[in-house]
Order: sequence, then C-alpha cells, then structure tokens
Amino acid sequence: MPQPNALINLLGLTELQMIKFVRIQRWPDYRAGQILRWLYQRRARAITQMTDLSTRDRLTLTELATIHRSTHCTVLTSQDGTRKLLLTLDDGMTIETVLIPDAARLTLCVSTQVGCMLDCGFCLTGTMGLHRNLKSYEIVDQVLTAQDQLAADERITNLVFMGMGEPLANLDALATAITCLTNKSWGLGWSPKRIIVSTAGLASRLKEVAALGVNLAISLNATTEEQRRDLMPAVSEIASLKSLLAACRRYPCAPNRRLTFEYVLLAGVNDRPADAQRLVKLLRGMRCKVNLIPFNEFPGSRFHRPPGRDVLHFQSALREAGIDVFVRKSRGRDVLGACGQLGEHSAGRESVTLTPIESRC
Ligand code: SF4
Repeated sequence: MPQPNALINLLGLTELQMIKFVRIQRWPDYRAGQILRWLYQRRARAITQMTDLSTRDRLTLTELATIHRSTHCTVLTSQDGTRKLLLTLDDGMTIETVLIPDAARLTLCVSTQVGCMLDCGFCLTGTMGLHRNLKSYEIVDQVLTAQDQLAADERITNLVFMGMGEPLANLDALATAITCLTNKSWGLGWSPKRIIVSTAGLASRLKEVAALGVNLAISLNATTEEQRRDLMPAVSEIASLKSLLAACRRYPCAPNRRLTFEYVLLAGVNDRPADAQRLVKLLRGMRCKVNLIPFNEFPGSRFHRPPGRDVLHFQSALREAGIDVFVRKSRGRDVLGACGQLGEHSAGRESVTLTPIESRC
C-alpha cells in the first residue's frame, strides 16, 4: 500500500489492494468494485464524479486519494486519419500512443516505456535511450485517454503493444495493465484475443506472454545472426536468432492462435530474394503469419524504404512457400506516427514543425 500521509493513486491499486483500502475505511467490500468501475469503465478523472458514493464517502476519499491520469494530451492528426496522441505524464515526460483506423478496425498502438533500452537501427524510439519504464496505470491511461478522443460512433477494436519501448522489459506493469484491460466486472472487458504484445526478441520471457492469454508478435527483421546483430545489436546480445526461434517453436500457442512475425523491409539490406528464401526455411513448420513492414523513413536514418515491386516480390516468395503473409499499410507517416517512427515528439527532443492538424485537449 502507498505510504501514509501521501495521497493514494487509486489507478495504481490492484483489485486486492483496493479491497484492502476500502476495508481500512470500514466500508463494505462492494465499494471497491464501485470505485474500480468509475476509474476504468466510466473513466472518472475526479473523485467528485463518483456519484453513487455518499457525499461523506466522497469527501473521505478525496482526503485520502487521487486519480493520476496523464496531465495533458496533444493530438496530431495525419492526412490518412491516423491520430498520434502525445501524453504528458506526472513527471513531465511525454509518451506517444497512436490510433490507427483501417476499414472496420480501429487499432490503438500503446507504449510501455519512455524511450527504449534497445537500439534497433530502423527505429527512432531506439535512438532516445531508455528514460524509464511506464507504471501500469500509465499504460492503461493511454487506452482511457484514447477513448476520450473517440467520436460517438467510434470504438477501438484492437490493442497492440508496439509503441515506444520493449513490452517484455516491463512485464510486471504490462501484466497488471492487461488485468485492468481484460477484467469484465470492473475493468475495460477487452478480449485477450484482440490484444497483441510485440517483442524485439527477449526469448526467455516469451512464455510469460502466453500466461497472459494475449497474442504474441516477434519483431524478426533478419535471417542470419550477422544481419540481426547489425540491425538489432542490443537484443542480439540478449538472445541469438537461433535461441529466439527455438523459444518460438517451444511457445505454447493456444490451438486456434498463431505467432506473428514482423519483418521490417529495408531496401538492399534484408529485402532480397535470398533473404526471403532464408526466412521461409527459418519459419518452416511453425504455425505463424508474417507481417511485412516497408521501412518508414525518419530523419537521420541510414536505411531506405524499398520500392513497391521489391515488397511484392518478397511477399510472393513467402506466399509461394505456403506462408500467410501480409504487407502492413504505413499509416500516419506525416505525423511520424507509423511503425518505428515514435519518439520524435517525446522526451528530450526538439519538436519538429507540425504541419498536420494539431489540437490539444
Ligand atoms: S523496435 Fe521496439 S525494441 Fe527496437 S528500439 Fe524500437 S521500440 Fe525498442
């Protein structure tokens, strides 16, 4: 429990901690559920909004506790409808969350760290370094705040943990956040099937994702140890390509699920026919699909986006080998909101000129 004399952050309490808290106040246990529903299902920002608590209990609660939500949100809207949310945290740090519309889907890409300790060469976030891990309530707040942004006829359909940071490097907070997101009685009631956690390759922690019941994506991007060391040096120190793929083969995938491999295509680097052939061999026999992501360029990057025809050739080679393969559309590139582009507007950076529509809330 939080320290005495400090205001307790209600959003930072687990269900058990909330029950303990209401018992200390000599309130009935059901009060815990009431408060939790206000926090998650009704997205209350103030205790005074909790109108099914008596005035006296609300007053008591106000003296003891508070609700820590992000303090500020700036929305950058891309020409393709993608919305990048820049959220300011309690300590002034900024994180990025992206709402991506696509046909019937509205996907929210969620961050788990401020910056990232890994330094994947094709990713802008990696150039920031790691500032800190997000707390579980800061992860959930991204979903709550994105919901605040929606029009009356919009609903988020998918959650992907592919924003800033390596989710498996902040696993405890991620697991607590997923509990809040999936709890049906007081939480947001998300089906774990609609949640994807993506890792750069922390092989020893994959099985812990299985325990969360969500889907797993692996950011692969290379077909030889040497290539992966060049593109993803930090994570290659932690686990080789061989040990990562071995962990993927051991992964206890539920019968109706499959792994997703993400593969960022870099012109002349990993997009050649020989790369496609090696990828086919590496994935042989695995229940999986592959998402190809043509590189999204950012200032200062040494890589280039491959031409469309090379992307299609790569896709065909995989498809002919019987692999389910999709080319991910690049969304939100004009607001640096596409895959690998997050971070330019965040902690410790000079802001770029914002040409797309900017609004604040
Ligand atoms: S790709 Fe993911 S793991 Fe790699 S640097 Fe970027 S945020 Fe970190």
